[in-house]
Amino acid sequence: MRCLSMGEYLKSIKNKTKYIIVTGGVMSGLGKGITTASIGRLLVDMGYKVIPIKIDPYINIDAGTMNPFQHGEVYVLKDGTEVDLDLGHYERFIGVELTGNHNITTGKIYSKVIEKERDGNYLGKTVQIIPHITDEIKLWIRKMAMENNAEICIVEIGGTVGDIESMPFLEAIRQMHNEERDEDFLLIHVTLIPLDLGKEQKTKPTQHSVKELRRIGLQPDIIVGRCANKLKEETKRKISLFCDVPVEGVISAEDAKDIYEVPLMFKDEKLDKYIIKKLKLQERRQSNEWEKMVKKLQNFEKEIKIAIIGKYINVKDSYLSIREALKHAGIATGCKVNILWIESENLEKKDKVKIDADGILVPGGFGQRGTEGKIKAIQYARENNIPFLGICFGFQLAVIEFARHIIGWEDGNSSELAKTEHPVIDLLPEQSKVNRFGGTMRLGDIEVTIKPKTIAHKLYRKEKIYERHRHRYEVNPKFISEFERHGLVFSGYSDNGRRIEIIEYPKNNFFLGTQFHPEFKSRPYSPSPPFIGFVKAALEFSN
Ligand code: GLN
Repeated sequence: MRCLSMGEYLKSIKNKTKYIIVTGGVMSGLGKGITTASIGRLLVDMGYKVIPIKIDPYINIDAGTMNPFQHGEVYVLKDGTEVDLDLGHYERFIGVELTGNHNITTGKIYSKVIEKERDGNYLGKTVQIIPHITDEIKLWIRKMAMENNAEICIVEIGGTVGDIESMPFLEAIRQMHNEERDEDFLLIHVTLIPLDLGKEQKTKPTQHSVKELRRIGLQPDIIVGRCANKLKEETKRKISLFCDVPVEGVISAEDAKDIYEVPLMFKDEKLDKYIIKKLKLQERRQSNEWEKMVKKLQNFEKEIKIAIIGKYINVKDSYLSIREALKHAGIATGCKVNILWIESENLEKKDKVKIDADGILVPGGFGQRGTEGKIKAIQYARENNIPFLGICFGFQLAVIEFARHIIGWEDGNSSELAKTEHPVIDLLPEQSKVNRFGGTMRLGDIEVTIKPKTIAHKLYRKEKIYERHRHRYEVNPKFISEFERHGLVFSGYSDNGRRIEIIEYPKNNFFLGTQFHPEFKSRPYSPSPPFIGFVKAALEFSN
């Protein structure tokens, strides 16, 4: 019997995964991640099982070592993989929990291939980009789709068509296109439609980037045109004519007021219907959960102002998940959360700190720069009974502030920052044992136990929770009893009580800190409990 080729084999399976590939043209930063996430949302709303995959063509294995100044926030998945913030968009929009396998990088693919080569798997052949690297890419995508029983697998390719780095991935996609049936494969190209000086919509850059795609053997089925305003019919017709895409396949993606409006905008453009038609799928039930959430978002009656004291505040994306989590809590409590960004270093220069806000949030961070400013902000919040939420580094600095100004240990500090007699935040000796990833960082979902009759318990209404971590240092157990004597409550712990996870100060209306990052699990329709508590307290404060 003749062996089936991979392509013939795939064609022979009936109910298999359909693939939607999303590429980008003209320039980066067009919101390809949000486009991908929004398409995922529309398909989920129609009742399809969708999995997203993000391809990052950089050589890093993951985003763990990347600087937030350059890349925006490092997002942490439940298995502890540190990834690009687009995976945060996927989780929030599509409502799935992802793992490191949903993120493919050049680093990961090459490592796999080199490992196989050392194991002698290539039987003496010369190992090459085509077919070995491209095979590995296709295998990874298909395996993920199969293992997750995906009806639809959406693959976003980071970067812009034409980048050297993304070539092997696009070549793999080209091969996949040939191997899959037409109705199982859809290519969506996201491009920029700039306005000229007379505010005319210009299609030439799009034509060029589609040409670039064709040069490598790919033809888009759908073009999503990012533009400051809605694409005119005439613009759509022009793109259709030059790029060989039917007019109904040219989709307008004008700037939205809020990213959560994008799925609805696409729905208005009938993108969901068009995708279903092209993939020869049935229209299933339509859920309006998302629409209801967006309605709330568009009709807030109240407003509050939250100060975020950070050090990457020029790059707003550095705190993306926190911004989103605040918004989610706002949706649940019916108020618009305005953010006042404060550069912590600026607070350091001031003798007397004054922060005009209904709540103060100190987010995660690393290193010395700006920490004294953050501590000043925490002191201000505590002394003036302004609702306070400290996350990770913010939580650690709240412990330090308490040590210095309530217990009276002026040299109270973290051993990450200084050598001191009172290292109230320290490296725990057994730290390395819990780590599953080779480094010394404590990462990903860890079970946290919450003490009954605490604020944390009121918020979570559970004794066992799972939250995502990304840190090295922890509360030093040596000093705990002294803190408790002065009224600080350690309301959450992990690792049989060895590690402190939550602090609260019941003397204030709302003063809470978490060693973990609750923002990573917050969703627009199920906000994170600490954020709800914080926003509610800020709302009360504003009244
Ligand atoms: N720098 C601190 C630590 O490593 C906090 C980390 C963070 O805020 N993510 O423990």
